[in-house]
Amino acid sequence: MAGPCSAETEEQTLTAARGVAAAGADVFRAGVWKPRTKPGGFEGIGAPALPWLARARRETGLPVITEIATPAHLHLVLEAGLDGVWIGARTTANPFAVQELADAFAALSDRERNSLAVLVKNPVNPDLELWIGAIERLQGAGVGRLGAIHRGFSSYGERYYRNAPMWRIPIELKRRMPQLPLYCDPSHIGGRRDLVAPLSRQAMDMEFDGLIIESHCKPDKALSDSAQQITPDELRELIAGLDRPCRAEDGGLDDCRRRIDAIDDELMELLARRMAVSREIGRYKRERGLAIVQPDRYRTLIERRAAEAARLKIDENFVRSILETIHEESVRQQLKP
Ligand code: PEP
Ligand code: MN
Repeated sequence: MAGPCSAETEEQTLTAARGVAAAGADVFRAGVWKPRTKPGGFEGIGAPALPWLARARRETGLPVITEIATPAHLHLVLEAGLDGVWIGARTTANPFAVQELADAFAALSDRERNSLAVLVKNPVNPDLELWIGAIERLQGAGVGRLGAIHRGFSSYGERYYRNAPMWRIPIELKRRMPQLPLYCDPSHIGGRRDLVAPLSRQAMDMEFDGLIIESHCKPDKALSDSAQQITPDELRELIAGLDRPCRAEDGGLDDCRRRIDAIDDELMELLARRMAVSREIGRYKRERGLAIVQPDRYRTLIERRAAEAARLKIDENFVRSILETIHEESVRQQLKP
């Protein structure tokens, strides 16, 4: 699935739809109602953009999906004759909003309800039960064509990804609900163009059922999520790259490598968080004229971890050298003005 973050004009919507169709996407996405963090951002065109989506559908033959957050949105999408909807991360986080949507689905005729596929994005916070709860509310309303979208989890402060993938959460969702199609949204996870392809590869290696990718003909001019959108040409390249096997060797290794990649992702996140705290400590010490390196604290920190090494089945010297390296970088960060 691919398409722009937002439908901005009729022309932009149609060129994006033609572009992603030619690039090999199976479904066209475009946001019409955009939940913005702060007022004043581009909040989407709203209902007037729905005829543009309907036209994109007629012209490309692709099924078309958009985000809904309220029963009123649902009814407008049905009137426009679209093929599916996604429920955004901010909405999934709110059980009242999800229940209102579920009630609106329950009140539809079977024909109308079955005319739409419904994809539930994970809530913004890393809460698997809340995600499953939203899916269950919709199941309870008789929604049959359900899927889930992993778009990562937000956090505060310095970070490598816009929304941390925390792969173990979607993997656990798959274990708990094996029949539910699970898609990955590398655009909102990465938040940066250059991360979209590697995240896509990683998700497909982890046996996700597909991807939803933001694609805009002029990403730099996009009114929302400009940094993470890719052109249709880049999308074609990305899709071609997924078909190329990236390793010819023994398939038995693949599973281990996927796990290693997921763990390394978390290590990167943790290191970024640790360095952010180090900088905070640096500021505190500077303001109070305290020494940056406090040797006693340093020795206890390393000794305490080294003593845990055996229990965790890792080498004690390895632990010491890792912690020394981390400490060295931490001091460097604390000295930064
Ligand atoms: C989107 O898909 O453009 C969007 C707003 O997504 P999310 O709900 O994941 O932030
Ligand atoms: Mn977006």
